[in-house]
Amino acid sequence: MKNIFLFGECMIELMHTSSMTMKQSFAGDVFNTAVYLKRLFPNTNVNLVTAVGQDHFSENMVKYFQDEYLSTDYVFRSETKIPGLYAIQLDQYGERSFTYWRDNSAARTVMDFINEDITKQLSKGDIFFFSGISLGVVRPESRDKFWQCIAELKAAGVKIAFDLNYRPKLWATKAEAQAQFLLAFEASDILLPGVDDFAAIFDTNDIHGVISFFEQYHYQELVVKNGEKNVYCLSSTGQDIVDVTPVKQVVDTTSAGDSFNGGYLGARMAGHSITKSVELANQVAGFVIQHPGAIVESSAFSSRFNSFL
Ligand code: ADP
Repeated sequence: MKNIFLFGECMIELMHTSSMTMKQSFAGDVFNTAVYLKRLFPNTNVNLVTAVGQDHFSENMVKYFQDEYLSTDYVFRSETKIPGLYAIQLDQYGERSFTYWRDNSAARTVMDFINEDITKQLSKGDIFFFSGISLGVVRPESRDKFWQCIAELKAAGVKIAFDLNYRPKLWATKAEAQAQFLLAFEASDILLPGVDDFAAIFDTNDIHGVISFFEQYHYQELVVKNGEKNVYCLSSTGQDIVDVTPVKQVVDTTSAGDSFNGGYLGARMAGHSITKSVELANQVAGFVIQHPGAIVESSAFSSRFNSFL
């Protein structure tokens, strides 16, 4: 069975259902990726690497992970911290805005739990996936330890996969984020950037600029998400451009890139070509954005994607 480790933070999500009522669920970029990956490829062992607390919300969060058949062996339990929280507000024009309470979350302490023994266990994985949000969540004093862990995994033959997901609020300065992202680019075998995210942090803002920027790195697969237009794939076999069929009625773009990553990484681990994996990823992301929230209800999802199971 293929084995993937996804490193990051899952948060408590609050979303208004009416002016005085909020619905509570759980979400976070690598968690979203893990959910879609497992739903599409149940024969893959999908492990979350994160930290939660010992409170009621943490219990429910871990139960939610288990309900989605995610492995929780590497979900560590802080004795003193609790999960991060965010709320989504909709204004009168339907525009979404986010408020976060995550500065002191349990997930920020995850590196405290990763010792030599755990690193050895993570070295048995096929892929280790993390994002720019995961990097922003690692406390600055733990960054050296994180990169040391990545170096050990890479030396053991684990493929490192990265999506940059730049969120300015997670960083003291843009330069600090850039420095961490450059380390991620150097370490990565599979790069999954979105053009918009890339433009927000580096000066290049079109697809060709993104591709030439990455020429200096030794990736195996570069898959650049270009929104509703297309996806550029570069690897040792050359360049391929896969078109996206634009969705007419976009309901909520939350999790578009995350669900794409889940479909892509799962398909690659299942032995599909890069092009075929991107085609599936496009279909998954195109479906997810026609539904509200990060995680589409499981029965609706499986009735659409049963043929892949
Ligand atoms: P993110 O900013 O979350 O990374 P992107 O805008 O890069 O999201 O989109 C991720 C993926 O979602 C795209 O590669 C594509 O597969 C799909 N996608 C995004 N927007 C649309 C759209 N309007 N119609 C169809 N698919 C879309």
